Amino acid sequence: MNLLLKGGRVVDPQVELDQVADVLIKDGLIAEVGVDLDTAGCEVLDCTGRVVVPGLVDLHVHLREPGREDLETIRTGARAAARGGFSAVCAMPNTVSPIDSGAKVRFIVERAAADAIVRVHPIGACTTGQKGESLAEIGDMLAEGAVAFSDDGRGVQSAGMTRRVMDYAKAFETTIISHCEDESLAASGVVNEGAVSTSMGLAGQPAIAEEVIVARDIMLAELTGCRLHLAHLSSAGSAELVRQAKARGIRVSAEVTPHHLFLDENAFAGRYDTYLKMNPPLRTANDREALVAALLDGTIDCVATDHAPHGLHEKEREFELAPFGITGLETAVPLVVTNLVATEKMSWSQFARALAIAPRAALGLVEVKMASGSDADITIIDPEAEVKVEADRFESKSVNSPFVGLTLKGRATEVIVGGRFALRSGEVVSL
Ligand SMILES: [Zn+2]
Repeated sequence: MNLLLKGGRVVDPQVELDQVADVLIKDGLIAEVGVDLDTAGCEVLDCTGRVVVPGLVDLHVHLREPGREDLETIRTGARAAARGGFSAVCAMPNTVSPIDSGAKVRFIVERAAADAIVRVHPIGACTTGQKGESLAEIGDMLAEGAVAFSDDGRGVQSAGMTRRVMDYAKAFETTIISHCEDESLAASGVVNEGAVSTSMGLAGQPAIAEEVIVARDIMLAELTGCRLHLAHLSSAGSAELVRQAKARGIRVSAEVTPHHLFLDENAFAGRYDTYLKMNPPLRTANDREALVAALLDGTIDCVATDHAPHGLHEKEREFELAPFGITGLETAVPLVVTNLVATEKMSWSQFARALAIAPRAALGLVEVKMASGSDADITIIDPEAEVKVEADRFESKSVNSPFVGLTLKGRATEVIVGGRFALRSGEVVSL
């Protein structure tokens, strides 16, 4: 049976569309987008009051499988993605052990085919074991389905090694994703270096630990011609470097996380909350405002969650010892809708660009358009829905989120992947 999405606000700037329309889905593809389409022979989903956009993609998630299946698996991470409104995720390779060979990429692809309700695209390691010493099997990993390469978790420290990785990536026309952190400058810093680190009595990590690598990798991308994507930018200075690089025509894209957009170090006032401990750290209100501005003007291309599941027993330790990172898949859409769309800072077209279109472009994934012939990967959002963030409602195995307890506005009600429901009426569909 065909599926007809009836009367939603269909938004896709790729085809200059923002209007109430119907979407007909046939054999996994979008067959037609138009007004008052014939419903005969169709299952009809009433989308009145909903926003219908190309399926959202989170290009930066940690699924923890293989190695830490107690925290997350490909199955639970994919369910969390569907619950959050994502039709696809890209899985970072810093598992135990890292994904640095064709065989390991094949494991992710096969496990995802069996277990995942949304598309899972593996990202391979740049260097063997993510040690920064020798090139990983980039060609073999590409052949098995890797979509990009990164040593995320820690950056490649040597500029020479980074150049080799980029030369190689350029030859294959694939993307390098940089975790920008100079370890000699970041040292043992656990929060932003400045007034807050001083008042908390904790070691600070300065913004320049990120910015020197942003600058270095932009220069190396210019030299090598490699397509570069900069992960989780956290400072005004980083955003400015990307702005200048784009003005010079360098092939660079960048992402920002919801926590760096909507939280800053002032959240620490009077509390040593390890749920606010992330890498890079939450920086100043000025940095946060600059990141929002850079996202809205297109300097920063995408929102990505850096979904980082950790156990309660690990997070509930002394601040210095607790791991960095928070889960993000299930709160990203409500956070962006509440803070940017509902306040009319961001249009739905910009939303679709930042969460669906730009992530695919950054990694050269197959385009999805609200037009006939495209894969029917679609996210449907109820912009008015009230969402109480409740840990026991998470599909993720981990609940380390500082947003638990908030009431937000806007959530995905349906996710369609290749014409099949992954999320329906707000509930994840069983495989
Ligand atoms: Zn990272």
